[in-house]
Amino acid sequence: MSGFSVGQDGYYGSFGGAYIPEMLFPNVEELRHSYLDIIEGDDFRTEFDHLLGTYVGRPTPLYYAQRLSEKHGAKIYLKREDLCHTGAHKVNNTIGQILLARRLGKEKIIAETGAGQHGVATATVCALMGMECVVYMGEIDMARQKPNVERMKLLGAKVRAATSGSRTLKDATNEAMRHWINNPDDTHYIIGSVVGPHPYPDMVTRFQSVISQEVTEQLKKVESRSSPTYVVACVGGGSNAAGAFYHFLDDPQVQLISAEAAGYGIDSGKSAATTFIGRTGVLHGSKTLLMQTEDGQVVEPHSISAGLDYPGIGPLHAHLFDSGRASFYAITDEEAMKAGVELSKLEGIIPAIESAHALAVLSKMNFTAEDIVVLNLSGRGDKDLETYIKWGRY
Ligand SMILES: *Cc1c(COP(=O)(O)O)cnc(C)c1O
Repeated sequence: MSGFSVGQDGYYGSFGGAYIPEMLFPNVEELRHSYLDIIEGDDFRTEFDHLLGTYVGRPTPLYYAQRLSEKHGAKIYLKREDLCHTGAHKVNNTIGQILLARRLGKEKIIAETGAGQHGVATATVCALMGMECVVYMGEIDMARQKPNVERMKLLGAKVRAATSGSRTLKDATNEAMRHWINNPDDTHYIIGSVVGPHPYPDMVTRFQSVISQEVTEQLKKVESRSSPTYVVACVGGGSNAAGAFYHFLDDPQVQLISAEAAGYGIDSGKSAATTFIGRTGVLHGSKTLLMQTEDGQVVEPHSISAGLDYPGIGPLHAHLFDSGRASFYAITDEEAMKAGVELSKLEGIIPAIESAHALAVLSKMNFTAEDIVVLNLSGRGDKDLETYIKWGRY
C-alpha cells in the first residue's frame, strides 16, 4: 500500500474517515463493504471500459500544445477531458457509480449539485441506464444555473429545490443525505467529487484514475517515458486532479501541481482557496481542510468558476497538501480568465473556467525546455460563454 492510498480505516494521513449520522451507517457500510470487490471484478471492468470507449469517447487525446509550449518554455501536453461526452471529466465517475449501483441492486439514483454540472452528468447516465433520477439543488443555484436545470429535466431527471439555509450546495447535500436515510434499500447516492464519507473519495478517485492510466500509455508513445515532470490540475473537490495524479502519486520525480480558486484574492473574503485559508474540520462526512469561521461555521466560497466554488477539498488533497507532496497555487478570477483567453487564441481550444485556473499556473512556473508538463484540461468552455462575454477582454 502506498502512502497516498486510502488506509483500511478510510484515512489519508489524518484526513478522511466517515463522519455521518448513525442513520446513514447501513448505506455507507454496504458501500464500504462491497465497492472494491465490485469495481475490481472482471465483468465490471469490461462494462466500464466499454462505456468509456463507446459512450464517453475515451481514450481522450493527449495533445501536444505547440504554441502554448513556446509561450511558456516547456513541452506542454493537454489531457483533453474537455472532449468527454457532456464536456468534462465528471461523467467518468457517474458511469462508474451507476454501474456499481446496479450491481448493488439499486433502482433509483439521487445526487446533489451546485452549478449543475454533476447533476447533468448524473442525469445523463440515469437516462442511459433507464434509472429514476432525483437531483437536489439549492434554490439560489437553480435560478443562477437555469440551462443546467433544463438539461437535467430534458434528460428525464427530477430536480428538487433545497429551500433551507443558504439555499446552495451545502443545503442540497443535506437534502440528498436525508433522502438517502429515508430510502436506503432501493437508492444509491452518486457523489460528484472525491469528497464525502469513506469510501466515496477512494471510489471516485479510482473511477477518475483512467485519466492518468491513459497518460502513462500515451506519453510512452510520444516521449518514450511514461511519466511527466509535472502534472497540473485544478482542484474544486479534487476529482479531476485525483484522476490525473493517481498513477504518479508514489513517484516523487513527478511534481504534482494543484490550482485552487482564489476568487478576488485569498485575503478578500471572497475566494475558494481552501489550503490557503482553511483549517481542519468536518465537511460532508469527511475530516478535511475547509474554510470556516472562528466558531466552525462553513464559509460561503466564491469563485468565478462554478465548479471550483466549494468550501473544502477532498481528504486526499488535504493529505497531499499537508505532506507537501503536491504544491498548491491560488489563482484569482482575473488570472484564470486571462489564461482561458490565452488558450483560446493560442490553440483554438476554449477551456472551462475551472480548467483555466490550471492553465494560469503555467505563467507562475520556472520551466526548463526539457520539462514535460501534462495539464489536465478538465472541461470545455461552452458552458462559460456568458462569463467570458461579461468579462469582455478578448
Ligand atoms: C466540476 C468541475 C471541476 C471541479 O471538480 P473536481 O472534483 O475538483 O474535479 C473542474 N473542472 C470542470 C470542468 C468541472 O466541471
